[in-house]
Amino acid sequence: MVEKIELTNLSKEELTAEILKIGEKSFRAKQLWQWIYYRGVTDFDKMSNLSLALREKLAERYTITRPKIVDEQLSVDKTHKWLLEFSDGQRVEMVYIPEKDRGAVCISTQVGCAMGCKFCHTGSQKLTRNLTTSEIVGQFMVARDVYNEWPSPTDEVRYLSNIVVMGMGEPLNNLDNVVKALNIITDNEGIALSRRRVTMSTSGIAPKIVEAMQRTGVRLAISLHAPNNTIRSQIMPINDKFKIEKIMKACAEYQKGDHSRYITFEYLLLKGINDSEDCAKELVNLLKKHKLRALFNLIPFNPWPGCDFMPSERKTVEAFSRILEEAGFAAPIRVARGQDILAACGQLKSKKNA
Ligand code: SAH
Ligand code: SF4
Repeated sequence: MVEKIELTNLSKEELTAEILKIGEKSFRAKQLWQWIYYRGVTDFDKMSNLSLALREKLAERYTITRPKIVDEQLSVDKTHKWLLEFSDGQRVEMVYIPEKDRGAVCISTQVGCAMGCKFCHTGSQKLTRNLTTSEIVGQFMVARDVYNEWPSPTDEVRYLSNIVVMGMGEPLNNLDNVVKALNIITDNEGIALSRRRVTMSTSGIAPKIVEAMQRTGVRLAISLHAPNNTIRSQIMPINDKFKIEKIMKACAEYQKGDHSRYITFEYLLLKGINDSEDCAKELVNLLKKHKLRALFNLIPFNPWPGCDFMPSERKTVEAFSRILEEAGFAAPIRVARGQDILAACGQLKSKKNA
């Protein structure tokens, strides 16, 4: 028997080509797309505008698969976390962080991560494999299943209103699948999330930044975490390969000619490592030198068992933020969410594996 094709691995063009290949007209692909991505249907039998014969034909050849929820936790602050399992048994986690009438779903792109950032729990887990397009899109679709957001609601009334590609893995090291997945998620005839509501975070794979942004049109976030190469290389080994200057140049290139392209610089505050006032001033100079339109996202460090770092004192974080703000950069301090359920990157999965 030939193996069935997973439809959520296909771009819209690929799906159309596939449908033509089995002797059907292209508008069938359009209908199928709407069933899958607008209505969230996984069962061919429910596709009521397709004939029984066609539904059977599709079911013989194709699958529409969701990752399986194997564990979930709900925090007192309503942060929702799931451990998801794919067909080969590999697992990643996904978090939903609700605000009043909207919220962001944090999705993963790899099982583990090869970057090995010292402060990151995922980084201590090594890279197992890339996620497929289907597995990336499937995460958001599971969240929609749970929150009953099918068919795709209009932009104003969505609880699952944003996506942050900030879960496990380095998205730019799995770029083809991530691009395909984000293009499916932002397609107007399906899930229809606006590109402005999707933010992709990278540890700074400089040569791929411009390409990644061109191919997705989403927002860019850079995990900077240090104002100079000495400190950055200490906590992020990838910095030996792509130095800060290279990242800044790629960012400037991305912003060239388009003033709407703000970049978020994520900055994790680690006690005694990167949280001094001098570090804040150096950071201001760095961004001014490269003339980047940017804002900061100051992240309190979430400690995990076995890590060497400590979170910075609250007053240190506030002083850091003030220096950036006085220099004209927005620098909000991110509120730690879901602490009672270990909602920091990589922690639920590790607890299960222990
Ligand atoms: N690999 C990409 C995207 C996933 S990591 C990247 O590094 O940008 C997303 C964010 O989680 C990063 O900004 C990272 O700094 C943050 N993070 C990792 N470990 C953390 C911890 N222990 N506490 C708080 N934030 C953490
Ligand atoms: Fe990978 Fe991002 Fe964690 Fe670094 S912070 S190890 S790049 S997931």
